[in-house]
Amino acid sequence: MYFCRVKALFTFIFLCFLSVCSYGQQIRIGVYRDHDIQRIVFGHNGINYSVFADTTYVGELVNEGYVEIQQTNDKRLELFVGIISQGIVDKITLIASEENASIELTPTIPTVKTRKYQDDFEITPGLKGLTIVNIAHMHNYLSGVVESEGGTGKEIEYYKVQALMSRTYAMKYLSKHVKEGFNLCDRVHCQAYHYKLRFTPDIEKAVRATENVVMEDERGNLVDAYFHANCGGQTSEADYIWNNRVDYLNTFKDTFCIYTKQATWEKRIPKQQWADFLIKRYNYPINDSVLGPLVFNFTQTERLAFYHNPMLGIPLRDIRQEFKLKSTYFSNYLDGKDVLVRGRGYGHGVGLCQEGAMQMAKYKYNYLQIAMYYFPGVQIHNIAEDAFYAQRGNLFLCSPYRTED
Ligand SMILES: [Zn+2]
Ligand SMILES: [Zn+2]
Repeated sequence: MYFCRVKALFTFIFLCFLSVCSYGQQIRIGVYRDHDIQRIVFGHNGINYSVFADTTYVGELVNEGYVEIQQTNDKRLELFVGIISQGIVDKITLIASEENASIELTPTIPTVKTRKYQDDFEITPGLKGLTIVNIAHMHNYLSGVVESEGGTGKEIEYYKVQALMSRTYAMKYLSKHVKEGFNLCDRVHCQAYHYKLRFTPDIEKAVRATENVVMEDERGNLVDAYFHANCGGQTSEADYIWNNRVDYLNTFKDTFCIYTKQATWEKRIPKQQWADFLIKRYNYPINDSVLGPLVFNFTQTERLAFYHNPMLGIPLRDIRQEFKLKSTYFSNYLDGKDVLVRGRGYGHGVGLCQEGAMQMAKYKYNYLQIAMYYFPGVQIHNIAEDAFYAQRGNLFLCSPYRTED
């Protein structure tokens, strides 16, 4: 019991620390989370980094220098400067000597492509491999995310709305990976973050222009800022996908994305495979005089949640998952030996439709109009203003001119 309380206390202190970090515009991101990295090289990339082993200053990473870190069998860290071992420790920290410095990371066991990230790093042993945490300024993190999620060459208002979404997500889920020692991971599980910003200065401008701006629901909670590549002309209810109704995530017709790249698709599934899935897994009533002949034929003009009839209990999301379809917004019919599936859109369809938002930005809608179109009824909020007014309130309460009652 005592241990649990101590543990709870430490978790609480750590959560406070994480939230201070984020309001202070820093965030801890676990990187290379889709690999179990045993050994990694940190290489100089133009600006010096100070290296610490536990709390001891080891030296400076300078021109063309590198350090290598390996997880030992007993889950500790061995640090190498060049090829010389510096001993076994439990934590290694790399601190940038200048604002916006970047460093090169090259995992060598296993071999994974080099990435560059900005700001500081903290490396500790993990269960299956190294826990590599990038302690980044929020704007550097968001620029990397917007580029990873949104790509290059887009309108600045689109980047702004993507930055707004990504910031809202990051702030809402700061404690998602708290047990692993960081706020968010670099996979799509949280938000893709695979590199520092490489291509367009517009992304950085967009992140700066929307600094501290987030989306909140009518109760003042940060919203679930879901997005997907293309809704196919109609967004999806959140509960079609996750069995969970959310006020601001409703279905509506989106006319902005219907002529874009991922608006339509086709896929052929062998007839037998289709039938086996529906009949064996879901007891599809193949002998029923009405539904039996419809096993291969299904039409969806408006988005639905179930195949033919909800009573059959066959969620379209299960069919999508089984046959790796781009979306649940499809119709199908028999064509020779195959079931021809014709679909619209790409992704779960909930929240912001990225290709629709890109199109809106081309038509000169601003990012707030785009956000309100996909998330009707949400409020746009600047969290720095809250902090400012809260501070003013405190100053007032502490004012020497205020007389005691
Ligand atoms: Zn994650
Ligand atoms: Zn759309």
